[in-house]
Amino acid sequence: MKKMLFMSMFILILSCTKRELSNTIFVEPEIQPYLDDFVAEAAKRGYVVDFSDTGLIMEFGETPPGTSATCLGRGNAHEGLHHMIFDKEAWDSRTPDNNASRVYHELGHCELSRPHDNTRLVNNMWKTIMRGQPFASDEEGIARAFYGFRKPYYIDELFDADTPSPFWTTLQFEYDEIQQLQTETLTSFSAVSDTIFELLQTVEQFEFESIVSIENLNENLYFQWGTKENGAYLNIHGRDKTIVVGIIENGRTYRLHQKNHPDIDFTKKNKFTIREQSNFCKIFVNEEFEFLLDTLNTPLLSIGLDSDGGAAVSLFKVSKIL
Ligand SMILES: [Zn+2]
Repeated sequence: MKKMLFMSMFILILSCTKRELSNTIFVEPEIQPYLDDFVAEAAKRGYVVDFSDTGLIMEFGETPPGTSATCLGRGNAHEGLHHMIFDKEAWDSRTPDNNASRVYHELGHCELSRPHDNTRLVNNMWKTIMRGQPFASDEEGIARAFYGFRKPYYIDELFDADTPSPFWTTLQFEYDEIQQLQTETLTSFSAVSDTIFELLQTVEQFEFESIVSIENLNENLYFQWGTKENGAYLNIHGRDKTIVVGIIENGRTYRLHQKNHPDIDFTKKNKFTIREQSNFCKIFVNEEFEFLLDTLNTPLLSIGLDSDGGAAVSLFKVSKIL
């Protein structure tokens, strides 16, 4: 009897919660544009997203430890708890695309009934932005590159998990291709330590090369190009032998690539090449293709290396690709 009473109370609470939610639509003003974009992307793919039957709450608040966003239930277009919570501090520190990937992920659970899926593409990147806990130990650092030319695929995949693998998974570039291009050296020097080169002209296509060794493996190398607030970065973490590439928007960074390089001795001289031409920015490490990035959306004004004084720079060369 006691058990039955408990059960009926439980059902009562559940149905109350559901009814309350069904009547509630609340979206933080800062999140609203992201929701609007999601609805528009859904419409382009033939999905009508309408929360009048499920209700919708997207608010800032406390999220479970180790997460910055959560969906309090799983649902589909017509049922389920559509209640999402986002950590405000994390939200404020992220670029718009990074925040969009979190909003789309949570809506993937609530509206599209998608569970976590840690499948990877042939180039080792995530197949889907629905990647999530639990992670295998080697998966933790894999970036979700919801940005630029990769973004349309990730949106397609969110609405259709059978979306074919995108063109960019098999792209490979040869370091030697530069020999067929005409270049003009803007500067070339060696420096013992950190340096910033300011360009005196707007350069749309360029190649930057640096040969650097890290003297103390506790130090990290930070290459940054574009402007201080907007551009891209290439970081080399000495101790864990990891190379990270990302973009900077209004001073906020977004990591798009991370790869471990156990075979590279960073205390020796290593060559890093950043080559921006024909709508892409190619990054090579020791003349091996490492990562393809979108071109900068701001003019290139400076290229800098910051290592807290822990690097020996044998070459720092900037060339214009004609
Ligand atoms: Zn999730």
